Amino acid sequence: MAAGKAGPIALLVALAAAGAFVAGRQSASVPGPAPSPGAPRLAAPAAPAAPVAVEAANIRVCFSPRGGCTDAIVAELDKARESVLIQAYSFTSDRIAKAAVEAQRRGVKVRAVLDKSQRSEKFSELDFLARAGIPTRVDSRHAIAHNKVMVIDGETVITGSFNFTKAAEERNAENLLIIRDKKLAELYAASWREHEEHSEAYAAK
Ligand SMILES: [Zn+2]
Repeated sequence: MAAGKAGPIALLVALAAAGAFVAGRQSASVPGPAPSPGAPRLAAPAAPAAPVAVEAANIRVCFSPRGGCTDAIVAELDKARESVLIQAYSFTSDRIAKAAVEAQRRGVKVRAVLDKSQRSEKFSELDFLARAGIPTRVDSRHAIAHNKVMVIDGETVITGSFNFTKAAEERNAENLLIIRDKKLAELYAASWREHEEHSEAYAAK
């Protein structure tokens, strides 16, 4: 196992995906170019942008095509007990959508924020989620709302290039990380809430 070989190495995850990058800023320890003046800004992240150390043993990774990413996501949704926050750009995977709805039906609080493209994407799960009673919102604030994130039970973060689509599973080159870390999950949840706040509620057709 890769995690075993890596031993006690703690991977530093510079948490910009959750906070600093989304806010259009870099963390203090990572000098970078200033954001372009016209770029839309979000309010400052609620969580600090300092790096968070995550033990390698708490990280799983899979690679598409056919790397088991969909199975891994469904397994995590099946284990959810309390809450699932979803952010998606393209969400067309029936299996992942069904697992989210099943979680909702057994009492897990599932909420979703999807990109505006999902209003018109032919195979989007937007209506399926909304009809199932999942509070579903559309984020039109950005050129594209490109995050692909799930935060489960405030302790598991699922993210990567992997869209929640059949193409991502079967045809694309993608990666997906499943990270168990409460601090990281808090940062992603805070970012999710910022996007939720400026998104519009979606009513199923
Ligand atoms: Zn947003």
